Amino acid sequence: MDVGFVGLGAMGRPMAENIAAAGHRVLAWNRSPVPAPEGVVLAGSPAQVAAASAVTVVMVADEQAVRAVLFGPDGWVTGAHRGALLVQSSTIGAGATREVARSCAEQGVRFVDAPVSGSVGPARQGALTVLAGGDGDDITEAAPVFDAVARTVVHCGGVGQGSAVKLAVNATLVTAMAGAAEALTWLTEAEPDVAVDAIAPLFERISPLVARRAGALVGEAPDGGFPLAHVAKDMDLVVGAMAPSAVLEAVRAAAREAADGGLAGRDLSALGMAARRHRAAGRG
Ligand code: NAP
Repeated sequence: MDVGFVGLGAMGRPMAENIAAAGHRVLAWNRSPVPAPEGVVLAGSPAQVAAASAVTVVMVADEQAVRAVLFGPDGWVTGAHRGALLVQSSTIGAGATREVARSCAEQGVRFVDAPVSGSVGPARQGALTVLAGGDGDDITEAAPVFDAVARTVVHCGGVGQGSAVKLAVNATLVTAMAGAAEALTWLTEAEPDVAVDAIAPLFERISPLVARRAGALVGEAPDGGFPLAHVAKDMDLVVGAMAPSAVLEAVRAAAREAADGGLAGRDLSALGMAARRHRAAGRG
């Protein structure tokens, strides 16, 4: 199949490589100059990608980026043939997803809402989960692409419902991690002799991710992973869509403060570093 790919960031690059490795011809574009991913040919614009592709995956940072690559100068829709299929995998709001899908329909192109669950590791392994929203036939048509990047495809409903499910999943994940960050910060202050590595398996039944990241929550969080810039963006979207919510607003504010306070490029587990900073500032 001729597959287009727009956005070769931390997630997009391994996804494009896996689609190529599955035997598809992949033509890709990225805003900044980047080396071609393995097996992938680079195009000069999103419009060129559209002109050559039966299905195109978009995997960019946020709503503004999605609109820019689709509807900006030399945007994807300007090159798309009637009936082309767009698979939108960036994490954006459900309302924005429906608006973008409507604009695509006005241009005669079909739209599948397909955010993904899983971070860079699963993206490399082709083991993401696609949260698909849209017409069943369109989702079936995109299946060869989903098979290359994901182990599971969950059909969440209509366009926008994949994005809504994705944000609900992330709100749950971030809330668990934010709670663990504060609980473990308190524990290691109050009982410094407790070995967090030894107690980490206790969290396994509550959240395998918290269990795996317990050491990072009380130590130095790595760069990358699920970066706080995206975490804060996702929590802004959740709270923007559902306000008022005291619990999720507190989690959103913690993530936003951490991202804007120099931790934007660090993994979600940097919520622990932020919690320690917060407590130190509170003590004056
Ligand atoms: P990333 O590494 O920051 O890459 C972002 C991509 O978007 C880059 O290709 C970037 O191009 C492009 N971009 C940003 N603004 C743009 C604009 N205005 N016009 C055109 N292109 C633009 O992000 P990522 O980690 O791959 O994440 C991509 C999406 O997947 C996000 O919506 C994120 O929330 C979601 N997601 C991430 C993870 C994760 O663990 N990282 C997991 C699941 C879902 P440049 O190279 O030119 O900057």
